[in-house]
Amino acid sequence: MESLKELFKIGPGPSSSHTMGPEKACIYVLNTHKEANNFVVTLFGSLALTGKGHLTDRIIANTLGKTRTKIVFNIKRKTLPHPNYFIIQSFVDDKQIAKTECISIGGGNVIINGNLQNSKNVYSFKNFEEIKCYSLKNNILLPEIVYKFDDSDIKDYLNQIYDVMIDSIHRGLKNTGDLPGILHLKRKASYLQKPNIDNEDDENRHIRVISSYAYAVSEENAAGSIIVTAPTCGSCGVLPATLYYLQTRYNIKREDIIDALAVAGLIGVIFKSNASISGAFAGCQSEIGTACSMASGAANFLKSNSNIETIECAAEIGMEHFLGLTCDPVKGLVQIPCIERNAVAALRSVENASLAMFLESTRKISLDTVINTMYETGKDLNNKYKETSKGGLAKNYKKK
Ligand code: SF4
Repeated sequence: MESLKELFKIGPGPSSSHTMGPEKACIYVLNTHKEANNFVVTLFGSLALTGKGHLTDRIIANTLGKTRTKIVFNIKRKTLPHPNYFIIQSFVDDKQIAKTECISIGGGNVIINGNLQNSKNVYSFKNFEEIKCYSLKNNILLPEIVYKFDDSDIKDYLNQIYDVMIDSIHRGLKNTGDLPGILHLKRKASYLQKPNIDNEDDENRHIRVISSYAYAVSEENAAGSIIVTAPTCGSCGVLPATLYYLQTRYNIKREDIIDALAVAGLIGVIFKSNASISGAFAGCQSEIGTACSMASGAANFLKSNSNIETIECAAEIGMEHFLGLTCDPVKGLVQIPCIERNAVAALRSVENASLAMFLESTRKISLDTVINTMYETGKDLNNKYKETSKGGLAKNYKKK
């Protein structure tokens, strides 16, 4: 399994597979074919169908150069090596000097000419069961496993990640007005933070506050601002909202939050290596479901004083009830249903962390089982529901 650095990435939204991955491939081409003076980039599959709404064309043009890049949206070709396949042709004047085949596999990771970039296995474990056995046998907690096996500066990296998460919450709470795109969707984070209401009960207040944080980050993502993939751009609001809410509500020490972030990251890399975190490959269950699983496990870590059984139970609940969730972004924008889904998943994460305290001893489903199930379900999902905007809400949406 890879380093948590390959899961938590800082970069511009709105989509890790549709913006960060293509950006990385374009930078590779610029560094590898320095003499090229113009480019043709052909997008296929999900990138061709939702690339405009996800700002794929903008990031490619900005990276390779607006005046020297032509972008082709090929929605006709059906047989593809992956739903997020694209080709970059590099030219010197009229002469093609290179053809680079790319696959954006989700979370900002990209396979270029058959090689996964920056891939390095730092954990020898295959799944959660192996991690749990190691933890119990050696009496070592989950965050300590991360600090022992991941890169030596991983704690500093996680601190940097949490800073960017908090920054995106604060930016999102301040910004108002419409989000970019033809939906003219109003930002709601600031309103959720300070609505004009009297006599609010405690339960409503907590629901509203958690949601405001998730909206803040997700709206910043939809606007193309800097966020952290957790595990993806589309699902980037769930984990920051959950951790920041718990930290501020219960005055939790920063170092404990960083440990919780390590737990979330470890859960995320298990999903990434045994299933998928790409909506174009496995639907929204792989983005929002994985984010909810990560945040539920992290929240339970803080609640249970690092009991690995209840952490597993919370993470398993986090995924189980998002199984089958389709990816159906309206007008190809990462806005409806994406932003609200982040809030709902953050709320569930806090609840799951509590529920797991009562269910752990009687549960029948392991985290690894639910991860495998998500992967199988994702493969079975109709293509309409895999970031193509051809089914679900994207199809039935009608302007009011
Ligand atoms: S519906 Fe889910 S997977 Fe699809 S773009 Fe939105 S957040 Fe991402």
